[in-house]
Amino acid sequence: MQSSLQIKDLQLYRQGELLLSLDEQIVGGEILTVMGPSGSGKSSLLNWLTGTLPNGFTATGEVWLNDKNVSHLPTHLRHIGVLYQDALLFSHLSVAGNIAFAMPKGSKNSNKKQRREKIEQALAQVGLAGMEDRHPDNLSGGQQARVALLRTLLSEPKAILLDEPFSKLDTQLRVDTRQLVFEQIRTHKLPAIMVTHDHSDAEAAKGKVIHLDL
Ligand code: ADP
Ligand code: MG
Repeated sequence: MQSSLQIKDLQLYRQGELLLSLDEQIVGGEILTVMGPSGSGKSSLLNWLTGTLPNGFTATGEVWLNDKNVSHLPTHLRHIGVLYQDALLFSHLSVAGNIAFAMPKGSKNSNKKQRREKIEQALAQVGLAGMEDRHPDNLSGGQQARVALLRTLLSEPKAILLDEPFSKLDTQLRVDTRQLVFEQIRTHKLPAIMVTHDHSDAEAAKGKVIHLDL
């Protein structure tokens, strides 16, 4: 079965006033880009998708993941991963600890050794071989971004949301990190939504681009 994220007939309201309407289907490996000025509702859209809409907002419509309506599930049962512009790593945990924290403790990762091996492999794949025991504060911005990416991917999400994920990285690092993130999204065949202000991000995503107005 092909994975997919569907936004069915969303009407999102703030203080009773319509903020945005959307009806979209994103299949696995595809990246939908959402652009729009500050205040147009980009973050609120992502909050609605994860089930974390603040008070003052209301919505009609449904979120479907892989042909299952998840609209009424709490955040942690939706299995939607989010990457933000800040890596948001725990500074008291090692790199491996940060990644392990988010990993499901199911059959495939039931013991510590299996989890550790999986983490070592994943780190090597993104150019961070041997960094398991380092602490996030001693990593560069680009390295932190890669650890955050792995933490999200190894949590085994069914879809991924990117909220301005590259905006704090400078040009070359931005291009490299973006390529890595998109590659991983395509390899894992995850449906993705990216919020960005940057037209080169939108082009690199190679998917549909929608513009929200104020
Ligand atoms: P964007 O991410 O596109 O900048 P947001 O989704 O953060 O936009 O915000 C959309 C609108 O909702 C803005 O007018 C913003 O001021 C308002 N807003 C944001 N958070 C809240 C909140 N907790 N309560 C009420 N209004 C909010
Ligand atoms: Mg925002």
